[in-house]
Amino acid sequence: MIEEKDGMKMLELAIIGGGPAGYTAAIYAKRGGVDFILFNDGIAGGQISTTSHLENYPGIPEPISGMEFSQRLVKHAENLGFEAEQSLIEKLEVDENGITLTDEDDEVYRVGMVILATGAVSRPLPIEGAASYVGRGLSYCATCDGNFYRNRDVVVVGGGDTGLEEALYLSRLCRKVYLIHRRHEFRAVKILQWRVAADPNIEVLLPNVPHRVIGESNVEGLEIKNVETGELRTLEVTGIFSALGVVPNSELVKGICDLNNGGYVITDQRMFTSNKRILAAGDVVASPLRQVSVGVGHGAIAAEQARLWIDEHCNIDALRKHKS
Ligand SMILES: Cc1cc2nc3c(=O)[nH]c(=O)nc-3n(C[C@H](O)[C@H](O)[C@H](O)COP(=O)(O)OP(=O)(O)OC[C@H]3O[C@@H](n4cnc5c(N)ncnc54)[C@H](O)[C@@H]3O)c2cc1C
Repeated sequence: MIEEKDGMKMLELAIIGGGPAGYTAAIYAKRGGVDFILFNDGIAGGQISTTSHLENYPGIPEPISGMEFSQRLVKHAENLGFEAEQSLIEKLEVDENGITLTDEDDEVYRVGMVILATGAVSRPLPIEGAASYVGRGLSYCATCDGNFYRNRDVVVVGGGDTGLEEALYLSRLCRKVYLIHRRHEFRAVKILQWRVAADPNIEVLLPNVPHRVIGESNVEGLEIKNVETGELRTLEVTGIFSALGVVPNSELVKGICDLNNGGYVITDQRMFTSNKRILAAGDVVASPLRQVSVGVGHGAIAAEQARLWIDEHCNIDALRKHKS
């Protein structure tokens, strides 16, 4: 990193986001000799640190907590001699000679390329106090946590594609799956609606919204409310799967990179976005699956592609030509 007289810092590459995708990109960038900085706002390791068990990551046969996995990412970085800069990047501006980033403290960075690994956040279950049940019966990911509810009764909240997919996924594992949605009609594609209707293990309860989580510290039930009659009913379940949608953290590149209808960043196979100076990796990408293993793969590809691009095109003198 070169620090200019005016305090502006210049580097070849900035990786924004310290989840599995961002850490992987940083590990590859470091080993590839790229001059980079890794920014992360929030807990190191990103979303995975919030789950109690990670058991589908190849090479780690014994389930470990998401927090432990995140700590291993940090340790891996330390072993290689870098750490994430705890900072929220608030502004990203691209010009023909480079990219200018501004963080929450108005620190300015000038970089040749960016890997956007800012991830996504689930829309929270709209019940007061619900956050305290995450990892104690409330889950935002059936693929991740479904296995812990084998032969148990669960409820899925949500009427879009994800909600119905989650219900169908859980139906193969769980004794009974309730599916609730606030309208009379699902938003999901017809094929999913037909599959749900044909599945004897899924009971659809419309039009209902979640009203109250029951349970001292772990989920023991969900009280639901019929939006037309106001009638309350308690479902005796030990798992609640909230599928009310996910919001990608793509605001930074809105208007700069092409996004799909859901706000996810569109990339090619090399993880390049529609802007030649920006690559993207992990959950922020328009991808058919959002998991640690996917983010890790994206991060590795993005860092390697960034290294090749920087070798060919990045020039510190050009970076000094700061857009004024
Ligand atoms: C409860 C739960 C359980 C899960 N269980 C599993 C599982 O068992 N197996 C599995 O494979 N996957 C699981 N997942 C999914 C997995 O966590 C994600 O696929 C993975 O974390 C995505 O990694 P990522 O690096 O793309 O983004 P994230 O993990 O979302 O990390 C992005 C990071 O970027 C930071 N950031 C965002 N914007 C900025 C900014 N402007 N400036 C600086 N930093 C920023 C965020 O604070 C965050 O730390 C689970 C997810 C959840 C929520």
